[in-house]
Amino acid sequence: MVYHKDIIERCYQRYPQTIEKARKLLSRPLTLTEKILYNHLFDQNMVAMYERGKLYAEFQPDRVAMQDATAQMALLQFIHAGRETTVVPASIHCDHLVQARDDAETDLKRALVENQEVYDFLRSMALRYNIHFWEPGAGIIHQIVLENYAFPGGMMIGTDSHTPNAGGLGMMGIGVGGSDAVDVMVGIPWELKWPKIIGVKLTGKLQGWTSPKDVILALLGKLTVKGGTGCVMEYFGPGARTLSATGKATICNMGAELGATSSVFPYDEKIAAYLRATGRAEVAEMADTIASHLKMDEEVEAHPEKYYDQVIEINLSELEPHLNGPFTPDLAHPLSTMKETLKKENYPVEVSAGLIGSCTNSSYEDLTKAAFLLKEAMAQGITPRSKLYLNPGSDRIRMTLEKNGILKIFKDAGVVIFSNTCGPCIGMWDRYDMAANTPNTIVTSFNRNFAKRADGNPHTHAFVTSPELVVALGLAGRLDFDPRVDTLSLPDGRNIRLPEPKGEEIPEAFSSDTQLGLLPPAEDPKGVRIIVSPTSERLQLLDRFPAWNGEDFTGCRVLMKVAGKCTTDHISMAGSWLKYRGHLDNISNNLLLGATSAFSGETGRVKNLLNGEYQTPAQVARAYKTSHIPWVIIGDKNYGEGSSREHAAMEPRHLGGVAVIARSFARIHETNLKKQGLLALTFAHEEDYEKVREDDLIDIPVSSLKPGEMLAVVLHHSDGTNETIFCQHTYNDTQIAWFKAGSALNLITQQGKK
Ligand code: SF4
Repeated sequence: MVYHKDIIERCYQRYPQTIEKARKLLSRPLTLTEKILYNHLFDQNMVAMYERGKLYAEFQPDRVAMQDATAQMALLQFIHAGRETTVVPASIHCDHLVQARDDAETDLKRALVENQEVYDFLRSMALRYNIHFWEPGAGIIHQIVLENYAFPGGMMIGTDSHTPNAGGLGMMGIGVGGSDAVDVMVGIPWELKWPKIIGVKLTGKLQGWTSPKDVILALLGKLTVKGGTGCVMEYFGPGARTLSATGKATICNMGAELGATSSVFPYDEKIAAYLRATGRAEVAEMADTIASHLKMDEEVEAHPEKYYDQVIEINLSELEPHLNGPFTPDLAHPLSTMKETLKKENYPVEVSAGLIGSCTNSSYEDLTKAAFLLKEAMAQGITPRSKLYLNPGSDRIRMTLEKNGILKIFKDAGVVIFSNTCGPCIGMWDRYDMAANTPNTIVTSFNRNFAKRADGNPHTHAFVTSPELVVALGLAGRLDFDPRVDTLSLPDGRNIRLPEPKGEEIPEAFSSDTQLGLLPPAEDPKGVRIIVSPTSERLQLLDRFPAWNGEDFTGCRVLMKVAGKCTTDHISMAGSWLKYRGHLDNISNNLLLGATSAFSGETGRVKNLLNGEYQTPAQVARAYKTSHIPWVIIGDKNYGEGSSREHAAMEPRHLGGVAVIARSFARIHETNLKKQGLLALTFAHEEDYEKVREDDLIDIPVSSLKPGEMLAVVLHHSDGTNETIFCQHTYNDTQIAWFKAGSALNLITQQGKK
């Protein structure tokens, strides 16, 4: 048994009481989203009214999942918490670092060598702290979660944006940054803004070539990539009950493309069937005992407009197959409009490649439908005109396909079977069939299609669609092919129409004969040595940040006064820096490289006041640190917006920064700064931002830091004049204790030792 029965039991035991309390408090029926949220409040005595989209609440999710790229820094921080194990079950999935080039076996062998030090570290952490470790190639994080861990009415966080995939089984999955994962693993309350809720009523039944993927592709066309921001997408209605659990997961997965916090379906017979098929009959039985709590109240379903912030209705019977793209997943084209679109737009019509699978569309249903079409075509002597590639979502699904003769159909049709990892979905596709920068079109059953996402080529036009349509377009080799009306020509001159795709929702039995899977736990976890080479360029054990020395900050230099927008990506860039995500000192060299200086107008360059030279912010910060000069960053509005990347807060702390003073903060980044032991202050008067000069020396009376009280910060100008400005902050007593201890983790360790 891979899932943790005790966690599910504990979650389900709380439901009846929590729901009753919340219903009384709100004096109205509840949506499913509200039920899940209330049932996962960190403090069950804090059941209160939370204004949607405004107030933050503290939660305790049931589990944590981490993929190998983001897990590294999260786990390096976790070491400092001094825990013997994680407070809730956690899992690590090695899926992002495998490059797709030749075939599963060759690619995996190469990845094991290239990423050995990362895998060794993650494996040793898993053994030491009793975390589940899924070997490279065992499967993609969200597919593994769906097959093993997700349960109706649960709540989980994952260090990957497509964690909402678990909503297919009725679990609220939320994508977060590594520091959030650390909070949950060490038992700190995890904060989330109480979301708005968009109700999506599904009626009718999917027909012919239309698939669950088209539900979300159509929604993306309606709502755009920003339409779900701050919201949970809650699906309901008779149409929802006709969709397989894995079809539901596909829809929830791509809620991330809407910018939604999460997506969720109510518990139903399809979900129960999937739980049983994947060896979790016991979980289905447990869910049955509280089934009424695992769906919205009947009154909500009857009058959705009264309870949701927005209601959208989709009639599945009338829905068309879609192709969304290129370059953005919300550019939705119903299939019947594609020929017209291609006349207007200059998209390459020839399909150079088709990508099937990924965490989004790897179900038995998806892949049996795709194989059915290939088999039918090959029986008529037709082979795909475009190159086709398949990334199965897990070794379990791959072995099931192999056992049932489905994989052979793909192989016979010339489909390249990549490993059970992300590969082309995350740009890890070493594509040698296409010269760099050649304009071309690909069709994919994945979820994202931003420029360069698949193969690094900015001129690859990627269209997102269902796996069956990827196969149909791959067989025709053309983007203007509509299998409902167009025919394929046979070598003998005859023309045939492809039959409508047929697949099986779930196999009679999933194979248990996988070659790659879960690492068995250590017999003696305490005896496991954490493996990090001291000479590694990719991994570095973290030193504890020093505790505050009790003195005010005086004579601080301004490292950079940032002008305008500054996201966490501007503070800590991704791209080629990704490989250093587990090495704080190396990745710190990217500090503020994307930010623009208000003094010089230059991006990623600042003046070193020690020698007058213009250098990168990291070079200057290191020079100040060596000279024992504290420094600050001056931020503009909404400083640190974007992702919850903890590196953006850890890097300035590592390089000797003591404070960020901004016109305003993005809340998550502000909290991250506090957790890492930096001061996060805002100008009481926004216009005081203008008073800060490049060569100022700044005094911050940090010993006066108290909840709700402003700090009088003194700017010493080089012309001998001084100005006092007032700075606000949002520190509470606990957060002040984080600051004094040097970081939130330092404090947790101290408390653990008492
Ligand atoms: Fe993310 Fe793609 Fe991997 Fe899914 S397959 S986890 S979307 S990179």
